[in-house]
Amino acid sequence: MPVETSLNRSMTSKAVKAIKPSGIRKFFDLLAGMDGAISLGVGEPDYITPWHIREAAIYALEHGRTMYTSNAGTPELRQEIARYLSRVHGLEYNPLGEIVVTVGVSEALDLAARAILDPGDEVIIPDPSYVSYPSCITLAGGIPVPVPTWEAESFELNPKDVAKAITPRTRAILLGYPANPTGAVMPYDKLAELAIVAERHNLIVLSDEIYNRLTYGVTVPSFASLPGMKERTVVLNGVSKAYSMTGWRIGYAAGPKEIIAGMTKIHQYTMLCASSMGQAAAIEALKNGEPDIQAMVEDYNHRRQVMVSGFNSLGLSCFDPRGAFYAFPSIKSTGLSSDEFAERLLKDEKVAVVPGTAFGQQGEGYLRCCYATSLPQIEESLERIKRFLSRL
Ligand code: PLP
Repeated sequence: MPVETSLNRSMTSKAVKAIKPSGIRKFFDLLAGMDGAISLGVGEPDYITPWHIREAAIYALEHGRTMYTSNAGTPELRQEIARYLSRVHGLEYNPLGEIVVTVGVSEALDLAARAILDPGDEVIIPDPSYVSYPSCITLAGGIPVPVPTWEAESFELNPKDVAKAITPRTRAILLGYPANPTGAVMPYDKLAELAIVAERHNLIVLSDEIYNRLTYGVTVPSFASLPGMKERTVVLNGVSKAYSMTGWRIGYAAGPKEIIAGMTKIHQYTMLCASSMGQAAAIEALKNGEPDIQAMVEDYNHRRQVMVSGFNSLGLSCFDPRGAFYAFPSIKSTGLSSDEFAERLLKDEKVAVVPGTAFGQQGEGYLRCCYATSLPQIEESLERIKRFLSRL
């Protein structure tokens, strides 16, 4: 290998080269411009943000609230987040110093990784899990350590496997339950076992709780509410999914003062603040959005049942997802790889799904299909998949 100098260097950093392009985006690009295509690929609600929330943003604009806000977010929004976490999870956070408002959970993940990691620090993540986790860790100089999860164990992260993956360089566990892409939730006893592991090895827990309110027949506690965990957990959440506000880009992190101060320090240079009208809308969502969540969850639950039973009746056995809005059917019986299946399905039947491998090696043999799309579209896509299977 020739020595790298300023004369022969490539234009991008090693960190950028080390991350993979998102396996979800690739399918968006293929889908663009395809007439009559159905997308089960995008992980976002198909509802327009409820009117009273939009109205709050319009009001803020009418009243000229168009300036930068305080770096950590408006005091009103931080106060409302603190009230929400207290009401829903029984967690008490000081809005002054223990909460930072971010540009979605996406920015919160990035900030958290950069605030806690030194080069070479390892972070344990479930495999499969959300596409951004390994990239955020790598970009922060850390090393993602995927721990396999299995359908036979309901895609729960096994605390014993986590303990085995710990080395002297392990700094944190990044949890994302209810999970994207599997829809898995973690039962309380497994979370409690994970808490013991985290405590024993003095690990920080980054808990992505963006789907926490989208659950079916179960409730999921915040990881920070487990005994002894508040001091070592950073809760990452936001309004994107539960209130159908993906485009508003408002998220937050709540956690130990030192970490939140570190995150805010980065955020004040890189983002300054989250959008001011988005923050006004988020206050209204957190204050008065409970009925909206309930109505949407009821509807998603119906779509979930149609999609999951649809896959099962096509012979693609489908794990019963209890959270988020994804079905994760197995396609192992077809003999095709996830990538082949997804590419051929899109080409032959114009149905876009995401290959499970976009979320880690353990995703091989599975597809991620989002059911936050209309019932007629779900039914039509199942018809097309049936036709596709009959030709294999
Ligand atoms: N975390 C998970 C598990 C997600 O699935 C997503 C989006 O799909 C995000 C975070 C990003 O959320 P936000 O829109 O708040 O940036």
